[in-house]
Amino acid sequence: MVFVPSKGWNHTIIDQTVLPFEGELIKQIPLIPEIKEDQLMWPHTKEGVYAVKSGYNLICQWEQSANPSSAQTTSQMRSQLCNRDVQCQILCSRCLEKIETMNHVFMECQYAAKIWFGSKLGVRFTASHRDFAEWLIYSITHLNNNDLSYVAAIIYGIWYARNQLIFEINDIEDNTIITLASKWINEYQNVNTKDTKVPIDTSTYGIRQQASDRNRKQHSANQSNRWKKPIKGIIKINCDANLAVEGRWGLGVLCRNFEGELLAAATWEIPGIAEPILAEACALYYAVKLVLDCGFFNVLIESDCNKAIDLVKEECEIPKPYLGDFIRGVFCNKTKFSYCNFGHIRR
Ligand SMILES: [Zn+2]
Repeated sequence: MVFVPSKGWNHTIIDQTVLPFEGELIKQIPLIPEIKEDQLMWPHTKEGVYAVKSGYNLICQWEQSANPSSAQTTSQMRSQLCNRDVQCQILCSRCLEKIETMNHVFMECQYAAKIWFGSKLGVRFTASHRDFAEWLIYSITHLNNNDLSYVAAIIYGIWYARNQLIFEINDIEDNTIITLASKWINEYQNVNTKDTKVPIDTSTYGIRQQASDRNRKQHSANQSNRWKKPIKGIIKINCDANLAVEGRWGLGVLCRNFEGELLAAATWEIPGIAEPILAEACALYYAVKLVLDCGFFNVLIESDCNKAIDLVKEECEIPKPYLGDFIRGVFCNKTKFSYCNFGHIRR
């Protein structure tokens, strides 16, 4: 899928091989020709290195999700782990009798059944109710908004009680969940009502006022942070990244000599970079490549991203994910200069 040796994605092969949404994700993966070796990385830490804490947090996120579909996944995964001899509880933590499936937790378990029946909806599940998801879909299409809100609050309450029991050893009575469900709905409605009461003119003025204060501050900051000329013989490179539209970043690079003369400039539009630091590191990498192409070998490269500058200045531990690839790309090219330094500039 990659052109050799230019190392760019072969869009034709990607489009012919995978589904369109998968193809778009693949094409957004930055390719750095200087990076030769593949490496394993853990996507749930910034450094890309596995830590027990991050693995534990990930499992807690799965467990605590109030989404019924994730509840189903969790239960299935527990069974799979158990099949692989990993010790874990697969039974319902409430009754310890049946395997914890979505149907059991929200419909079949005595605890859930009591809550549904005791609620103002008085739902009684019978043998004809085999699938909780089906019942939910039926409810969504047939109940009015108020009753549907109540159903959502009860479902959340059952899952909340289950998590409280497992993680906090806190056994909440079924009646309390019924009371809590009504309380949550009231709170939600109160918040929404208050929002609509805010006079539009006042809030607009508030936003405008904040924006104008920000502009004033920015203007005075700009006055004290003007571009400074480099010493004779050095070319100063300024680079920056800006979010153009959602999911697409604009990168810009300017090269000027000690007299402030513009020697070269370039812009790029890069898709799919989620984090600002990744875009800033990408801008630094593109800047280095551009100035080498231009034949500038004594350079000072400036960016307003402190962290990216710190990473390219020191050979400290480089993060493994794509951020690390851009930094490694800069390192690989740094040795080609007679003089190359990096500096942080405040915006
Ligand atoms: Zn149970």
